[in-house]
Amino acid sequence: MTRTVVTGGAGFLGSHLCEQLLADGHEVIALDNFLTGTPINVEHLMENDRFKLVKTDVTEYVHVTGEVDQVLHFASPASPIDYLELPIETMKVGSLGTLHALGLAKEKGARFLLASTSETYGDPQVHPQPETYWGHVNPVGPRGVYDEAKRFSEALTMAYRRTHGVDTAIVRIFNTHGPRMRPNDGRAIPAFASQALTGKPITVAGDGSQTRSIIYVDDLIDGILKLLRSDLAGPVNIGNPHETSVLFLAETIKRLTGSDSEIVFIPRPTDDPTVRQPDITLARTELGWEPSVGYEEGLERTLAYFKAHPGLVR
Ligand code: NAD
Repeated sequence: MTRTVVTGGAGFLGSHLCEQLLADGHEVIALDNFLTGTPINVEHLMENDRFKLVKTDVTEYVHVTGEVDQVLHFASPASPIDYLELPIETMKVGSLGTLHALGLAKEKGARFLLASTSETYGDPQVHPQPETYWGHVNPVGPRGVYDEAKRFSEALTMAYRRTHGVDTAIVRIFNTHGPRMRPNDGRAIPAFASQALTGKPITVAGDGSQTRSIIYVDDLIDGILKLLRSDLAGPVNIGNPHETSVLFLAETIKRLTGSDSEIVFIPRPTDDPTVRQPDITLARTELGWEPSVGYEEGLERTLAYFKAHPGLVR
């Protein structure tokens, strides 16, 4: 049994990580200030005496008593609506929050895993994106607050590894979907699902020809835990290379929900990436990992969650 700290543990991905770590028999301490997450995401775990949820703003301090084997740093606004509304908080949690989480790992001699993002590649000029690609990010555009916070987090993580010998790992997560996403968080899948299920127009940005590669949350968590349990430093891409246009995604969600909603086109956000597809050769060869949930199967599961939680859909 390991003792693992998960910052952002009450968020979408953090809650799935806590759930899987507990299912594997480990002890988990989730630290979260509920900025974009909610204790409801981990309500079902509260009965477990190996789970603890502590309200903490990791930009202020990170303190945990006793031994800690692993620190997973997932705290950060992550959806476009969130980080555009919370630009300073996003930069603080990527910088000060990462510093404090790394400090905890150093103090405890724990393995540290940073949740980074495919957004470090920006609007990529290399396709698909291997980990060796340095990216094409606009630092002064509105999305820069998220992309650059994550790029800073990666650099700080490597500095702690090189300077203090902390055992670190960086995962670059590609667009993930699944239960406990918020319907109004500004990401394409929850937006399309809510619109399709309520008969509202499905709003596709631009002409919808920009591409995305979406991964179902169970596959992502499996990849992250394989990285955690390896000695790889990364960065390692974890995503599903199955790439489709955003218009195709909207059409698929419309068909799977049997919706009569019409598809309408709205302006593209500033610096919206034109293409996105992970090169997962490294995860395949070094971790023996690859996604196993099919495109429609994953979407069906996420849509089932939104259907089962109609109160969330408006
Ligand atoms: P989320 O918003 O659901 O979860 C983030 C959690 O961090 C929330 O519970 C929030 O309250 C918490 N948090 C934010 N600031 C905090 C602070 N200062 N102190 C303590 N807690 C704080 O988002 P998510 O989709 O679960 O993303 C989790 C992580 O994974 C993020 O770091 C994100 O950048 C990364 N990521 C996610 C995706 C994706 O597709 N979901 C893709 C790439 C990277």
